[in-house]
Amino acid sequence: MSQRIGIIGAGISGLAAAQRLIATGYAVDIFDKGRGPGGRMSTRRERIDDATYLFDHGAQYFTVRDPRFVSQVDAWTHEGLAARWPDAGPDAFVGTPMMCSPLAALCEPFGVRFATRIEGIIGAPGAWHLTAENETFGPYAQVIVAIPSEQAASLLASWAPDFAQLALKNVSQPCWTTMVSFEEDPRDLAPVMRVQGPVLAWVANNASKPDRSGGSAWVLQATPDWTAAYIDLSREDAAAPMFAAWQALVSHPLPQPVLLKAHLWRYARTGEGVDGCIYDKALCLGVCGDWLKGPRVEAAWLSGLELAEALLAA
Ligand code: FAD
Repeated sequence: MSQRIGIIGAGISGLAAAQRLIATGYAVDIFDKGRGPGGRMSTRRERIDDATYLFDHGAQYFTVRDPRFVSQVDAWTHEGLAARWPDAGPDAFVGTPMMCSPLAALCEPFGVRFATRIEGIIGAPGAWHLTAENETFGPYAQVIVAIPSEQAASLLASWAPDFAQLALKNVSQPCWTTMVSFEEDPRDLAPVMRVQGPVLAWVANNASKPDRSGGSAWVLQATPDWTAAYIDLSREDAAAPMFAAWQALVSHPLPQPVLLKAHLWRYARTGEGVDGCIYDKALCLGVCGDWLKGPRVEAAWLSGLELAEALLAA
C-alpha cells in the first residue's frame, strides 16, 4: 500500500493514529510545531551550570483502564518506557525516564518533522497539501488533524465547517504551571499535594518519579479559575504568587529557589469528549485528540487509535 497520510500534531493522539496506520502498511508524514516529542506530555529540561533539572510540566501521570491502552502500557513497561508512580496513587503511571519517553519511542519510526507549524490544508480530498510558513507538503491521500480543539477549528474552517463548529464548542481550560528547583530539597515535604485552590490545584516532586535523574524539580499547577483570572500575567509575574501560595501551605519556610519559571498552557484541559474521533470518508479527513474523547492521556491515545480504525474500515 503506498497511500501517504499527513498527520498534524505529534501528541499522543496523533502518534497513536500513526502507529496503527504504519502497522497496516501506510506511509505517514507527521508535523509538529513543537521542538520535541510530547505535546502536553512533554518534559522540559533546564540547565544551571552543570546541573540538569527535568520537569514534566504538562500531564503529571496517567491512568490505564481500557484493555487496549492496558496492553500498550504493558508493552511500554516491558521496554522500560513507563512505570507506576506510587506517590500519585495506586493507579498512576508515568513515562520513564521522562513523561515524554514513550512518545519519543513512538516517533522513532516516523521521523516527525518538528518546528513545523501547519497553517493550512489546501488542494482537494484525496490529494491534500499542507502548508507551513515557507513550504508545502503533500500530496496526501488522507489528512489527520490531531491538535487541541481551538487550534483545530481554524485549520478545519474552510473544508469542514461542521467539524470546526464542533471544535469551537469545546472550550479548553488554561493552566499556569510553575517549575521550582532548590539547591537541596527541604525535608518533610509531601511528594504530591492535591490542593483545593484558591491559587494551586497540584504540587508534585517530579524527582520522586521512577527512574528519574536530574536535580530538584517541583511542579506547581494553578487552578483553572486562577489561571483564567491571571492569564495575561508575564511568566515572571505568574511564578511568584504561585510560589507564595505553596509557601502558605507548608509549615516551615521554603528555601530560596535556584530556578523559578512559569509556563502557560493555554489549552490544558478539554471538556469531556463525546464522539471519540471524527472521520469523513468523502473528505478524506479525520480529527482526533483528547477533546473528542476526554481530558486524559488515555482518552487521547484511544481517540487516535479509533480514528485510525475508522479510516482503515473505510
Ligand atoms: P497534544 O498533546 O496537545 O498534542 C497536539 C500536538 O499538536 C502538540 O504537540 C502541538 O505542538 C501540535 N500542534 C498544535 N497545532 C499545530 C499546528 N498548527 N501544526 C503543527 N503542530 C501543531 N492527562 C492525564 O491523563 N493526567 C494528568 O495528570 C494530566 N495533567 C495535565 C496537566 C496539564 C498542565 C496539561 C496541559 C494536561 C494534562 N493532562 C493530563 C491532559 C493530557 O496531557 C492530554 O489530554 C493529552 O496529552 C492530549 O494529547 P493530544 O495528542 O490530544 O494533544
